[in-house]
Amino acid sequence: MIKMKKLLVIGGGNAGTLIANLLAGKLDVTVIEPNEYHLYQPGLVDYIIGEVDESKISMPIRSVLKSKVKWIKSKVTKILVDDRAVLTERGERYEGDYLVIATGGQNKSLFNLKGYHTLDDGRSIREIIKNPKGKNFVIGSMPGIIKCPAAPWEISFLLKNKYPEANVTLIIPAKQPPSLQVPMFNLFSKMASVLGIKVLRGFVINSVDYENKIITSIEGERVNFDHLIIDTPISTTFNELADNSGLIPVDRETLTFKDGVFVIGDANNTPTPKTGAAAHFQAEVVANNILYEIEGNRDKDRYKGDAMCAVYSGPRDGALVWLNYNRSKALGPSPIYYYMKKYFTNLYWSSLHGGIDILLKPMVYSLSKS
Ligand SMILES: Cc1cc2nc3c(=O)[nH]c(=O)nc-3n(C[C@H](O)[C@H](O)[C@H](O)COP(=O)(O)OP(=O)(O)OC[C@H]3O[C@@H](n4cnc5c(N)ncnc54)[C@H](O)[C@@H]3O)c2cc1C
Repeated sequence: MIKMKKLLVIGGGNAGTLIANLLAGKLDVTVIEPNEYHLYQPGLVDYIIGEVDESKISMPIRSVLKSKVKWIKSKVTKILVDDRAVLTERGERYEGDYLVIATGGQNKSLFNLKGYHTLDDGRSIREIIKNPKGKNFVIGSMPGIIKCPAAPWEISFLLKNKYPEANVTLIIPAKQPPSLQVPMFNLFSKMASVLGIKVLRGFVINSVDYENKIITSIEGERVNFDHLIIDTPISTTFNELADNSGLIPVDRETLTFKDGVFVIGDANNTPTPKTGAAAHFQAEVVANNILYEIEGNRDKDRYKGDAMCAVYSGPRDGALVWLNYNRSKALGPSPIYYYMKKYFTNLYWSSLHGGIDILLKPMVYSLSKS
């Protein structure tokens, strides 16, 4: 009997879970992930605004991994790239014929700012939003690569819809967005203006005075806040593998770091927004190419930079942003995208098994052609 090749996946988030499930049974797959629960991060937006409860956005890791996938509940402390091996916090060593790094990005700690990436962050923001003491909200991000650049806009839209009387200010560190994000910025700026959200472009936080509740930009502009929700940039915790971006360099089409070692999702330095959609498409490309190497009964695939994000914008309106390495689009507002986002909270769990590719693939194809 031919021995199955071994795949070792570090991280059981969006990218790691999908690739593990896609290759389960075809390779001997092990996922190393320290958390008990898998968090659907885009659902944090629904959660903090009070639209869904925790059970909708968080599931036990074991339940999202196919039964043939082995799960080691531990944290990887060292990656031995040349050996396609890792060491864990418990001092154990695991190795594979293939190694996939899918460890996401960790937020930098700056000015004690509270972001919105974890369920704990989400819980405290949800409490504030439920019963806010003062309705002067400042939302935004710090310069650098953040998760889902649409998220600060979306949180602002939702807050203003929930509390039309609130002052909502959105701070955007870049004066001009990167060219592929221009359609999104133009559409979202119009939506913000209709809703009465103040958008400050080129506002880079220089200090946060929590006592007097004032943030100051490097240009000396001061903004008062009752509640501050600011996202900080991400980087990998595996500094020794990272480039200047703080993320792990890969070939942008094959996601290869080194022969047999791939990095997928937020952890890599591909020049595309850090989104679950990008993580999903990258996992599929690498899964396909591993099978191409082992079975040879298919074509080799290339990741073309596809990323996608549906955003709530009004009480029943939404927008859809799509881009790849060369082109981008921002569509809406329309109820179609609102409901697309809303129902994806249920569909997400099935997407972790490749279950909705029958919908996703034609959609991306038509967006890239039209
Ligand atoms: C508020 C918010 C809104 C968002 N909205 C959208 C949206 O509308 N659309 C969209 O497409 N994307 C959105 N995103 C982004 C999306 O959630 C991420 O891009 C996606 O989760 C990235 O998947 P990943 O697998 O790379 O990382 P993650 O899903 O973050 O998973 C990484 C996993 O690696 C594990 N890990 C880390 N370090 C180690 C280690 N040392 N050893 C073992 N395991 C480790 C972590 O515990 C985690 O489970 C949003 C994100 C946020 C926070």
